[in-house]
Amino acid sequence: MKHPVSSRAVLAVFALLLLVAPFVLPPFTMTLLNNIGLASLVVLGLVLLTGVAGLTSFGQAAFVGVGAYVSAAFSASVLPLPDALAWMHTPWAALAMALLVTAVLALLVGMVTLKLSGHYLPLGTIAWGISMYFIFGTLDSMGGQTGMSGIPSISLFGVLLASDRAMYGLIWVAVIAVVAGLNNLLDSREGRAIRALKGGMVMAEAMGIDTARSRIVIFVIAAVLAALSGWLYVHMQRFINPSPFGLGFGIDYLFMAVLGGAAHVWGAVLGSAVIVVLKEWLQGLLPAILGRSGNFETIVFGLLIVVLLQRSRDGIWPYLARLVPVRGRPLALDPGAEPLPRREMPHPAEVVLDVRHVTRRFGGLVANNDMSLKVLAGEVLALIGPNGAGKSTLFNQVSGVDTPTSGSVQFRGHEVTGRGSRHIAGLGMSRSFQHVRLMSRMTVLENVAIGAHLRGKCGVLSSILRLDRKEEARILAEAARQIERVGLKEQMFELAGALSLGQQRILEIARALAADPCLLLLDEPAAGLRLGEKQALGDLLRKLRGEGMAILLVEHDMDFVMELVDRIVVMDFGQKIAEGLPEEIQNNQAVLEAYLGVADEEPQAVAVAGVQHGQ
Ligand code: ADP
Ligand code: MG
Repeated sequence: MKHPVSSRAVLAVFALLLLVAPFVLPPFTMTLLNNIGLASLVVLGLVLLTGVAGLTSFGQAAFVGVGAYVSAAFSASVLPLPDALAWMHTPWAALAMALLVTAVLALLVGMVTLKLSGHYLPLGTIAWGISMYFIFGTLDSMGGQTGMSGIPSISLFGVLLASDRAMYGLIWVAVIAVVAGLNNLLDSREGRAIRALKGGMVMAEAMGIDTARSRIVIFVIAAVLAALSGWLYVHMQRFINPSPFGLGFGIDYLFMAVLGGAAHVWGAVLGSAVIVVLKEWLQGLLPAILGRSGNFETIVFGLLIVVLLQRSRDGIWPYLARLVPVRGRPLALDPGAEPLPRREMPHPAEVVLDVRHVTRRFGGLVANNDMSLKVLAGEVLALIGPNGAGKSTLFNQVSGVDTPTSGSVQFRGHEVTGRGSRHIAGLGMSRSFQHVRLMSRMTVLENVAIGAHLRGKCGVLSSILRLDRKEEARILAEAARQIERVGLKEQMFELAGALSLGQQRILEIARALAADPCLLLLDEPAAGLRLGEKQALGDLLRKLRGEGMAILLVEHDMDFVMELVDRIVVMDFGQKIAEGLPEEIQNNQAVLEAYLGVADEEPQAVAVAGVQHGQ
């Protein structure tokens, strides 16, 4: 077992290598390193977009182009400005314009494109990637397809960055800064929200995350990084034409992200380096071998993509990471962090949830038929019934994942029918899922911290600049507190995917509790739990009830239900067939019939009855 080195040490070695490179490497390699840095900036955006959040874009080259063209137009005085504003004709003022224009454009494109899902999103990015490329070619004032020269170099502290060697410093300072900024972002409240996007919208929205906003935010960040690369590129080349901003380059960038390891920030730099060097090498080698000129490297890349997707979906970064195991930043939990503010709990016996005559049809199927129930503060209500009775459907309507066909849901006096789960989460309802929905590649602590999303405020910018540490410490301390409370302390820093299914269910309860809810919805919380775990869960729920929390749970384990709950509502075929105290339900004829199809069985037979009918 090798000793892991700290990530700081890796960064230091990397920075040192970058520092000595210009003194030892020949000028030709400086150009190569510059190209790697320029590509890395674009690919870093793609890592965020595609690797972390699962949104595939082929259109990043177009944003590089927007940055380059806007900057060229400004700094080469293609756009006339009044004399008073002539000072704006510098590359730095042009940078501000380029980033601004790109951000606004990305916002507009994103609002249209990001609504698309599945295969339509990548197709959408191809469509606008191509159209922007053609627009560049029609800009006659900037040389159309032929291009335009005479773009000024960047000057920094009075030094003109006219050579590749001079640009090298600026490019790589930008890369390192972006790597650091993105790492900061991913390790924050907003970052967890972004990472949660890959787990589907339902869980994220139920935790109060505005998924549409998060998608737009990372789309704009990725576009702005591409524009930054375009700015550096165009002032390095001092020439512009449309060809480096076409779809082919958009594909190359995506390939770099996938090859490097799309979910790893450093994978962006690795993927860019491998592809830029390989391309350079193959462009010389292949025509020499084949004895004729042509872009043969494209074919090799195509084959490489296929092999990669078959063999290693995570790219090559994980291999490298195994070779040199890197210890992440030590996660210091601050037990002294000030507790997060808490919600005001409902008065004892207040009606927290009021479901009135809810009906839900799926085509011809009536999954819920005129369902009504109330849950009071400080009460545990169980919703039971055979499989397919409609319990999860009712849960989804209560929590805003689904909208009733008719009827209404009121939560703490608010009409919440059809209001969306994010809104309802904000009012103090939190849930777990029958089929666990968690981020298996995030730690238990991070997963639970997602639950506390609405209890923090720090945004993207303060996360990138690390101004969020105080709030972050409070959120993590709260997550840790809930983890201890449910008995997962030992597993706090493990990946959620490594837990047993029972532990994953418990994790979901901790995540729900991190939201500081006054109503907890638990869909089959005891399924897959061992006896000891079940008893601990029962104790926890009793304690929560004592604190005034209202709890609605669906559960098949009748021993668990009968011992714990205050009241029971029984459903069958979408309808309520009984409601009452546990002992009343145990002796209820209609219930026994629903479970067994016969009326004269022993009462406790409910406990052992299969739950198989009705589907
Ligand atoms: P339970 O949780 O009690 O086992 P469900 O609420 O999951 O039952 O399902 C009730 C019925 O509604 C089942 O017949 C199920 O197939 C159907 N159903 C649930 N969700 C949908 C859906 N999105 N589309 C169509 N039918 C559905
Ligand atoms: Mg169910």
